[in-house]
Amino acid sequence: MQKSPSAGREGDFLFRETHRHLGRGPVRSCETPNVGAYAIFAHMNNDTSPPPERSDFIREIVAADLREGRHDTVVTRFPPEPNGYLHIGHAKSICLNFGIAEEFGGRCHLRFDDTNPVKEEQEYIDAIETDVRWLGFDWGEYLFYASDYFEQLYEWAVHLIEAGKAYVDDLSAEEIRQSRGTLTEPGMDSPYRDRSADENLDLFARMRAGEFPNGSHVLRAKIDMAAPHMNLRDPVLYRVMHEEHPRTGDAWCIYPMYDFAHGQSDAIEGITHSICTLEFQDHRPLYDWFIENLPVPSRPRQYEFARLNLTYTVLSKRWLLRLVNEGHVRGWDDPRMPTMSGLRRRGFPAEGIRNFATMVGVARADSVVEVEMLEHAVRDVLNRTALRRFAVLDPLKVVIENYPEGQVEEMEVPNNPEDESAGTRRVPFSRELWIERDDFMEEPPKKFFRLAPGREVRLRSAYFVTCHEVVKDADGRVMELRCTYDPDTRGGAAPDGRKVKATLHWVSAAHAIPAEVRLYNHLFASPFPGAEGRELFDDLNPESEVVREGCFVEPSVADAPVGQTVQFERLGYFCADPDSTAKAVVFNRTLTLKDTWAKLQAQGRQDTA
Ligand code: ATP
Ligand code: MG
Repeated sequence: MQKSPSAGREGDFLFRETHRHLGRGPVRSCETPNVGAYAIFAHMNNDTSPPPERSDFIREIVAADLREGRHDTVVTRFPPEPNGYLHIGHAKSICLNFGIAEEFGGRCHLRFDDTNPVKEEQEYIDAIETDVRWLGFDWGEYLFYASDYFEQLYEWAVHLIEAGKAYVDDLSAEEIRQSRGTLTEPGMDSPYRDRSADENLDLFARMRAGEFPNGSHVLRAKIDMAAPHMNLRDPVLYRVMHEEHPRTGDAWCIYPMYDFAHGQSDAIEGITHSICTLEFQDHRPLYDWFIENLPVPSRPRQYEFARLNLTYTVLSKRWLLRLVNEGHVRGWDDPRMPTMSGLRRRGFPAEGIRNFATMVGVARADSVVEVEMLEHAVRDVLNRTALRRFAVLDPLKVVIENYPEGQVEEMEVPNNPEDESAGTRRVPFSRELWIERDDFMEEPPKKFFRLAPGREVRLRSAYFVTCHEVVKDADGRVMELRCTYDPDTRGGAAPDGRKVKATLHWVSAAHAIPAEVRLYNHLFASPFPGAEGRELFDDLNPESEVVREGCFVEPSVADAPVGQTVQFERLGYFCADPDSTAKAVVFNRTLTLKDTWAKLQAQGRQDTA
């Protein structure tokens, strides 16, 4: 029925391979060719052909189903369990599901798989909606909850009981586990397996009515305890759980298992392509069994793709929750977290994350993507869009002795040299300035071209200055530089054509706004956290957050709203943190300017050449 994928897409390839395949994939119509990703393709393939259009094995299946009339329209869904915040792996799934719906003129539902009230909370539901919207997708009127279908699912459970295909079991969870058998040995039938339909109906109704305590009874499908697929060995459909549900309150004390809810929810909503990650492959026979044995209104099909894994990162909600609860980070939205709220607070633009999802592509085999590729995608967007600003993180005072006391000039500085339409801004210049401490050396080595005694440099968009004297404190630490400026070099060029070898950023001391700057690095020090038997949290990077106080930023930066990432010239990309107050501005370092991914790519190509 479904089209088999082209051989080239099979097999265990790393993301680099995926990438190449994507770049050479068949042409497909696509409304939004991805310029950011294209820059990378061009870089890798060393060509300047037009941007490749998106394709992967799932899009091929969808296209064939539409072309050959198996479906009139495509309906996908993104089905998070509201038991945590969304992370960058979910972003891949969101881009895939909503992306396909958009490209093929169909629709994508947002459905909360809220079948386990013990772990689910309204806070997570709200955060998930915010994150999906922020990423740039819209489910319109198609917002659903598996809990909306509890009554229907209950009826279908009754249907199975009446058909002799489900039974109430009194075995404990442990006893059920022990009697399941192994991959090489069949399981054992439960002594309760042959209860009559009437007895089962009565017991199931009493389960619902709240007569039994947690763990005492379950409803199981009656399939085959010797089935080669473990998931077909009489799986549990319902368990007793006396728990308040965020949406249904105390209406229920039995809850369907994920497997019993998921496929049927798809069928109720008319999902055509139920796209999930590879770990659900083993569940597909059961998914299909329910669809075949229940009077469902449609017949969705499940397709699996590889989940996203990233170096230096953990992406399992279980571990993310521990990072939060055990105080290793500032919360779910800590800028070091791979959560969408963390990446947003860090200053990653949604467009960068979408471009990254396109670059990663959709493969059938698991792989680990280098986190530098995500950073590259983000830099690519920020380089185009971020306004340039001046900030000094480790300030050293400069006094310009021949500059009139009390005089202030407004220097005109371009907002983005990559984008003339971004215009210019005025930055106050005065007699006393801050520059970066490491832009000065008293005894410069050969290749150090920045400021030194007797040397002339350019202050960006301002003047040439020359250092004449170094003022030190009692311990010999440099406290101040006494300099002179050349009034003829206003704007940063000398009329006599003389050159300088360095251009420094600066902030006027009288106008500078004090700031705290948080420098972020990878949360984990190892590319494969917890590998080789190490404790995961032993791999935490002690330098993942370095807080610098006493930094200075130019006045216009104070207006940068939270969520707008700017480039502090020569330092990196930064954005205001929500911790900022009118008194104390806080900035997060989104990324440094150095792109290590392009370098990794070049090395990779050499290795495989
Ligand atoms: P985790 O394993 O991180 O706890 P999950 O799979 O339990 O996540 P769900 O809320 O069930 O989280 O996920 C919603 C959807 O997102 C599912 O379809 C799932 O397959 C997909 N998804 C989850 N993690 C990833 C990932 N790392 N890469 C791609 N898709 C993912
Ligand atoms: Mg899950």
